[in-house]
Amino acid sequence: MAQELVLVGGGHAHVDVLKRFGLEPVPGVRLTLVTRDLETPYSGMLPGLVAGVYSRAESHIDLTRLVSSAGARLIHAETNGLDRVDRVVLCSGHAPVGYDFVSLDIGAGPDLSIPGAREVGVPVKPVDGFLERFDALLRDAQASGRAPRIAIVGGGAGGVELSLAIERRLRDFAGGASVGLVTRHDILPDYPARGREVLRRELERRGIDLVTNAEVAEARPGALVCRGGRSLAFNEAIWVTGATPPVWLADTGLALDDGGFVALEPTLRSANDPFVFAAGDVATVLEHPRPKAGVFAVRQGKPLEQNLRRALAGKPLRPFRPQAEFLTLIGTYDGAAVASRNGLAASGAWAWRLKQWIDRRWIRQYQALT
Ligand SMILES: Cc1cc2nc3c(=O)[nH]c(=O)nc-3n(C[C@H](O)[C@H](O)[C@H](O)COP(=O)(O)OP(=O)(O)OC[C@H]3O[C@@H](n4cnc5c(N)ncnc54)[C@H](O)[C@@H]3O)c2cc1C
Repeated sequence: MAQELVLVGGGHAHVDVLKRFGLEPVPGVRLTLVTRDLETPYSGMLPGLVAGVYSRAESHIDLTRLVSSAGARLIHAETNGLDRVDRVVLCSGHAPVGYDFVSLDIGAGPDLSIPGAREVGVPVKPVDGFLERFDALLRDAQASGRAPRIAIVGGGAGGVELSLAIERRLRDFAGGASVGLVTRHDILPDYPARGREVLRRELERRGIDLVTNAEVAEARPGALVCRGGRSLAFNEAIWVTGATPPVWLADTGLALDDGGFVALEPTLRSANDPFVFAAGDVATVLEHPRPKAGVFAVRQGKPLEQNLRRALAGKPLRPFRPQAEFLTLIGTYDGAAVASRNGLAASGAWAWRLKQWIDRRWIRQYQALT
């Protein structure tokens, strides 16, 4: 093979790159996916999986099938470094993987810097670890007939949606669900006021103990201790706090933004290495910073694929400007969703039907492959 193109991580942008390269392969280029997980979850359907609306198969993309349909090579390993001098991807339990061009779409995990969070908290990412823990918790609840008390840390869209999904799933146990949501400021600080109000009322109606303006200072076994002394009891504390980058990025010598994410040009190429590209939560386009959300990773798929093709052919890259406004749909998992766009918000069963339609249509593109 004349050139090696290595994709690290089967995130939302890379699944699209794989599909597009499969439809139109580049002669003389070997495409490789290095991935920690063989099935990648779609973030839009994750709360639905937790709520019991979707099965695992419905909400995940089978990367083995996708890679095979793209005629690519699959390496099932976790990447833990990049040697940019020798141009190799470093992996645990696998020999280094050489590249001419490499692209990173490995996501980001919740911030676990609070004392005790690593020891007693369950991070929502990696998703596989979280789902395993949640399944074990459901089995225990089925055996005992009683649901555990769940505390969710983080009041962004993910934390709010997950609280509602978990309440729905645990509601039917004796004594009902016991879910608390604790957040540093208000819930959904960047959300339109009307949407925030609708969701606050929904959380209250569902008996979710909402603790706002409370900063968790320490996680102890069985209790979250907030600054000011307030304490919240739990059997299981799930961490859905703001995204943090993988620690090994700091050792790569790649240009990073203030948060430690890969700094990109608008072409999705690294700001200081022409052989490295990135997309999704792990990166920030310096000229167009956006919230860490799956909608942006999804939209980066096509421009990333096109610029990787141009880079392989030695052609000039084209800049990509991400959308400034986007539709957010937060499911209540009780037959409705809250839709928001351009500072406006509305809710109802129609929004839930729309969310299901959009999510199913998106994931089907990567599942329905021969
Ligand atoms: C509960 C919840 C609900 C959410 N709902 C929404 C929503 O409705 N809409 C929205 O826009 N955003 C949502 N988000 C945010 C969304 O999850 C992320 O923004 C999105 O997943 C980012 O996509 P990504 O492609 O960057 O990475 P990811 O989707 O995280 O994918 C990363 C992939 O890389 C692989 N990987 C990770 N590390 C390595 C490694 N070291 N080596 C090899 N492979 C690796 C993983 O196996 C994974 O397949 C939600 C988040 C949560 C927690």
